[in-house]
Amino acid sequence: MCKPWENVSMSKAMTSAFRAESLAAMSDDRGLDILVIGGGITGVGAALDAATRGLRVGIVEAADWSEGTSSRSSKLVHGGLRYLEMLDFALVHEALTERDLLVNRLAPHLVKPVSFVFPLEHRLWQRLYVGAGILLYDVLASISRQNRAMSWHRHFTKHGLRKIFPDLHPNAAIGGIRYWDATVDDARLVLTVLRTAVEHGAFAAARTRVVELLHEGDRIVGAIVEDRETGERHSVHAKQVISATGVWTEETQSMSPSQQGLQVLASKGVHIVVPKSRIRGESGFILETEKSVLFIIPWSRYWIIGTTDTPWHGDFRYPAATAADVDYILERANRVVSPPLTRTDIVGVWAGLRPLLQPTSNAGTSAKVSREHTTMSPKPGLTVIAGGKLTTYRVMAEDAVDFAMRGTKVPKSSTDNVLLLGAEALAAMRKAMGAPQQRYGWSDQMVEHLLHRYGSMMSELLAAIEAQPDLAQPLRYAPDYLRAEVHYAATHEGVLHLADVMLHRTRLAYEMRDGGVTASEEILDVIAPVLGWDVKRCRQEAADYAKLHAAISVAAMMQDDLSAEAQLRTAVNA
Ligand code: FAD
Repeated sequence: MCKPWENVSMSKAMTSAFRAESLAAMSDDRGLDILVIGGGITGVGAALDAATRGLRVGIVEAADWSEGTSSRSSKLVHGGLRYLEMLDFALVHEALTERDLLVNRLAPHLVKPVSFVFPLEHRLWQRLYVGAGILLYDVLASISRQNRAMSWHRHFTKHGLRKIFPDLHPNAAIGGIRYWDATVDDARLVLTVLRTAVEHGAFAAARTRVVELLHEGDRIVGAIVEDRETGERHSVHAKQVISATGVWTEETQSMSPSQQGLQVLASKGVHIVVPKSRIRGESGFILETEKSVLFIIPWSRYWIIGTTDTPWHGDFRYPAATAADVDYILERANRVVSPPLTRTDIVGVWAGLRPLLQPTSNAGTSAKVSREHTTMSPKPGLTVIAGGKLTTYRVMAEDAVDFAMRGTKVPKSSTDNVLLLGAEALAAMRKAMGAPQQRYGWSDQMVEHLLHRYGSMMSELLAAIEAQPDLAQPLRYAPDYLRAEVHYAATHEGVLHLADVMLHRTRLAYEMRDGGVTASEEILDVIAPVLGWDVKRCRQEAADYAKLHAAISVAAMMQDDLSAEAQLRTAVNA
């Protein structure tokens, strides 16, 4: 008899052969319509937008997919409540529309509603003021083109608040307002957008750095890219190049000096991770800080708490959390959490860099500036896009491709109708999970975890398990993940190194106190045969990752950015 998952078509696998084919295709005589530099959310969004318009597009990423800022965010898909205070209603409305589009249609498996409490300290005026703001937030979401994806907000007394958040500090609030936004695994969103682009014909190569822009007169006509795995260089010709390189934007622009260009400063944001069991509560919190807000966010089996906002003057490749960052977050969180969190509760920590756009006085006339992101062309043939946020990646991508292709005849963006991989036939997949759940003894939580990460692509993991039944087992030292998941990471998700699995395909690097180091050996047992690694290579991969994890941990004990950065730099370059 035909199994339900056998009817689902298989997606294109991002293997190392696919990477090699992509590099060959990008550098062949036909040239590309668009070359995208940077495999964060902005770049992969642009690749998807271009591919679905029928353009010949290639994307290169200097490190692993999402390794820049896009795997280090607060993982919220949100309208940005605080922008209401700046009276930026259009911006909030746009982000809420994107949020609800993702939750309702484009990626309901990946993007999930989550609630937050805004705690109140003053009885009347604050309830009226904050209440009006949150009401407006909900109303702005209701006037989007999508159906409402979230429940309406609700007011709570102190007593009511303690019911939904028993570990509330007794002096934290006299009541609160609960409202809804959404969360996503940011690295998985990037990977899924990228894989959807590949499905539509995009070429893609990670660990491939643009080292030079190609010129014909004053025009940019492509780039020289360096394959960091082999050291080989390739010339890629393209009618248009889009730079989506986040905090590296000025570095990319400097490859083609011009009077015009974006100026980008970096600001560091740190998060800590504590186990779900450590705080009793069924809602997140949003807390006001001097500069911005700090979130306590429910995230699968954990709480994520952050973030900070401090200037970063070090190397953009090594943003590191310090002891001072961690202490600040603990102090802030403990204003609402009781018993107080301590360092021993922390299982993981990460730091990311916000690309802060400077006023664009030198952007010239060829720029489209929004409060959040800017698209401009410092040279003919080169479009630069930076700023924005994860939530609005689709709008940014559309802007970037429209801008790059202005003056030529191309179809309009259609990504508001392009479901991300895994979203198609999600309900059928959910139904079909009953039989394998029984057969393999998976808990309800495991089934939810799998559907959340893969949606209907779960059919591909089930097919692999059918062929190799041991893949149905959880990893012995990281039992929240199945062996099948790391296998799939190697067969389909473009893994080139063990660290890719630990940091971005799973989030073991932050979810386990030891960063998943004890699980490395078993993970290598599963992925090495797929990737053709011998014993020596496995040993090297395990040692490299252990060194990196140790450096992240030691850095978080340093008091200042420079010493913390030095730890990471040494581990990566040793
Ligand atoms: P990046 O993700 O940094 O991607 C740029 C990529 O370009 C990098 O991967 C880099 O390796 C690559 N690159 C650079 N130079 C080259 C080269 N020469 N050749 C090839 N590749 C190159 N947004 C939200 O919507 N919700 C949130 O909750 C949220 N929280 C945040 C929290 C923090 C702490 C931070 C820092 C940001 C947060 N954001 C959030 C914002 C969001 O994360 C960023 O706006 C977004 O990730 C930026 O993506 P990007 O693709 O532009 O840049």
